[in-house]
Amino acid sequence: MSKIIAINAGSSSLKFQLFEMPSENVITKGLVERIGLDDAVFTISVNGEKVTEITDIPEHGVAVKILLKKLIDLGIIQSFDEITGIGHRVVHGGEKFNESVLITEEILGQLEELSELAPLHNPANIVGIKAFREILPNVPAVAVFDTAFHQSMPEKSFLYSLPYEYYEDYGIRKYGFHGTSHKYVSERAAELLGRPVEQLRLISCHLGNGASIAAIEGGKSIDTSMGFTPLAGVAMGTRSGNIDPALIPFIMEKTGKTADEVLEVLNKRSGILGVSGFSSDLRDIESAATEGNERAELALEVFAGRIHKYIGSYAARMFGVDAIIFTAGIGENSDVIRARVLQGLEFMGVYWDPALNKVRGKEAFINYPHSPVKVIIIPTNEEVMIARDVMKIAL
Ligand code: ADP
Repeated sequence: MSKIIAINAGSSSLKFQLFEMPSENVITKGLVERIGLDDAVFTISVNGEKVTEITDIPEHGVAVKILLKKLIDLGIIQSFDEITGIGHRVVHGGEKFNESVLITEEILGQLEELSELAPLHNPANIVGIKAFREILPNVPAVAVFDTAFHQSMPEKSFLYSLPYEYYEDYGIRKYGFHGTSHKYVSERAAELLGRPVEQLRLISCHLGNGASIAAIEGGKSIDTSMGFTPLAGVAMGTRSGNIDPALIPFIMEKTGKTADEVLEVLNKRSGILGVSGFSSDLRDIESAATEGNERAELALEVFAGRIHKYIGSYAARMFGVDAIIFTAGIGENSDVIRARVLQGLEFMGVYWDPALNKVRGKEAFINYPHSPVKVIIIPTNEEVMIARDVMKIAL
């Protein structure tokens, strides 16, 4: 029996899940928020109950120490030796990594080089890796990349129509993200459909604060909506998704902002927040729209409308589709968004049942039985994929 910890380190947060493997039983999970501030918040679930502590956590190393000490204090483990492997989510693996990898000094160096491609994400992931390496130097650690699953995209999908040498010289191409989630739900969809994934054409909609759509043919990602960075594709909580690139200098000129400041607007003040003008959280938008708030209604239309169009485009890309999958916070929970995304898709064989669509947060088919295209809600589980890869690679 192994105990494996899956880690998702962000710039000021660290999420963890401790698994017993191979049973995949979750022993505990939790999260450290506001790292770097005096009132950092440490939350851990013990027997289904959440325990929260507010304390001073100046950096990730301290967060890791507190987390490990808590596991012992709460009697979840007796000693650090019980942890047999660590899996780290790493956002960007570039073209170098098409699968998860055991972390060595050399790999760590390569991850640092990749930070250039993902300056907002990779440095935080690396800080998390280093913190664990210092405290548990002998426990094997594996990096699991958000980009890896999309490395199967053919050149015609990942290449931008820019001067070709930009790709060769600077690595400018579509990488795609949320790969671990798209992979998990596509494999799970095949199980639920009772068919080998090799025979399926799937469109997976990962709709959370970040959102991306993937076309998955024969178990391989062949196209996805995010691009060189996670800013591209559909509209998101605070991210714009695709816009006309000529708008960037235009906005700079009109507002006097620098390029970095405009990018900040596109990343943090656009999407559902930008259109609604008051919230990035879909629950707020849904209730305001119900009360007649027009901008909230517009945000719903914009958000769902982009996804709807991607589905048409990816169905065309694969010459058809066998199933559409919804996952992540919005995909799993919002019948309102699912209904708008699926509206009118009967022309391509998507017959969905509004009564079944009312389901929330659990695996379910929401299509009519006769529908040629199935529609499936599948709660994502990136952490279990991380734990599985640690088992496969390090143990
Ligand atoms: P992240 O990308 O941060 O992991 P999540 O997958 O947790 O995001 O998704 C967060 C989004 O899911 C938020 O917009 C939230 O409003 C939405 N969401 C969560 N629960 C519900 C619900 N019951 N109904 C509608 N939207 C929901």
